[in-house]
Amino acid sequence: MFGKTFNLFDLFGFRIQVDVTWLFLALLVTWSLAVGFFPALYPGFSQTVYLSMAIIGMIGLAASLILHELAHALVARAYGLPIKYITLFIFGGVAQLEREPQTARSEFVMAIAGPLMSLALAGLSYLAWIAADALGLPQSLAGVLHYLFLINLLLGGFNMIPAFPLDGGRALRAALWGWRGDLLWATKIAATTGSVFAFMLIGFGILRAVSGDVVGGVWMFLIGLFVRSAAQGSYTEVITHRLLDEVPVTHFLHEPAVSVPADISIESFVQDYVYATHADFYPVVEGECLVGGLAARQLRRVPKSRWRSLSVAEVMTPLSPDTVVSPKADVAQALTAMRRTGRSHVMVAEDAKLRGVVAFSELQRYLSFKLEIEQSG
Ligand SMILES: [Zn+2]
Repeated sequence: MFGKTFNLFDLFGFRIQVDVTWLFLALLVTWSLAVGFFPALYPGFSQTVYLSMAIIGMIGLAASLILHELAHALVARAYGLPIKYITLFIFGGVAQLEREPQTARSEFVMAIAGPLMSLALAGLSYLAWIAADALGLPQSLAGVLHYLFLINLLLGGFNMIPAFPLDGGRALRAALWGWRGDLLWATKIAATTGSVFAFMLIGFGILRAVSGDVVGGVWMFLIGLFVRSAAQGSYTEVITHRLLDEVPVTHFLHEPAVSVPADISIESFVQDYVYATHADFYPVVEGECLVGGLAARQLRRVPKSRWRSLSVAEVMTPLSPDTVVSPKADVAQALTAMRRTGRSHVMVAEDAKLRGVVAFSELQRYLSFKLEIEQSG
């Protein structure tokens, strides 16, 4: 889902990251605060003061988004759903779930935790703003608190709109799911409200843009497109997960996988392995021990003149939690790992001992059979 991300810090065991697209939002927010919001509401300061207020406001926005996601993430963890990353990106923040909530109740509580946090932050900012005024603290400080009050109110309010994938839409889905016990049906309805809301955003965005507010209009239009594609994607995702969750990954193992010694040259890898066995992916071993993986297509980045001098170990992808899963993992975990690496294979190993390789194409074939057989009635 994300392009290039940068790690900021760890918070309660979650890694806080920034996607490059966030920088665009940060600049846009800083600019509109410095030349629009603050000069309009707090006239009489110098450009430097407005710019400082805007930068602090933008950092406050980032902190507000992180705390909103942190609320989701802490509740998710309390329900046993692992979350590793909280990421800021162009449309705000997201806590990346490794798997979907297993019960309607856990999804509901998780969904409303974020907006509740934002509303609580709005309340706190409001009190601090009033206090700053009462104590006669500088107006520049009061202005920033005023902004944080409004933005958190907006974050809480907007996210409560019952349109999937917004938090309110997730809560709606959970409520419907809990009521009738049918996740697919609940997702269908929540995704429909999401699509309707998306079209409204797109429509209003266009109206706003042609009536003069180009930045605000284009922004609404883009958020509309984003909500629309997420609403559509959610339905497909639920079907996929429903069919693949809890199917053990070992069900799809290629056995035995041909593994390659780490110390041979690329030249002999190509001659003795790729041309001989025609696999597109090879686990790399040192003795009995799994050390990495090498896809045949990765060789395209290696100039042919260097095939003799480079070893497999120098070109391979080393082991990481995303390139290898445990034999106890289910297919959903394998898919998550593949999505993270953008590769079509994941290795299955226990204590660096290779059990085999799972290919995306295999999962896809299984899924399409299962869809044809189970959905035709
Ligand atoms: Zn949220």
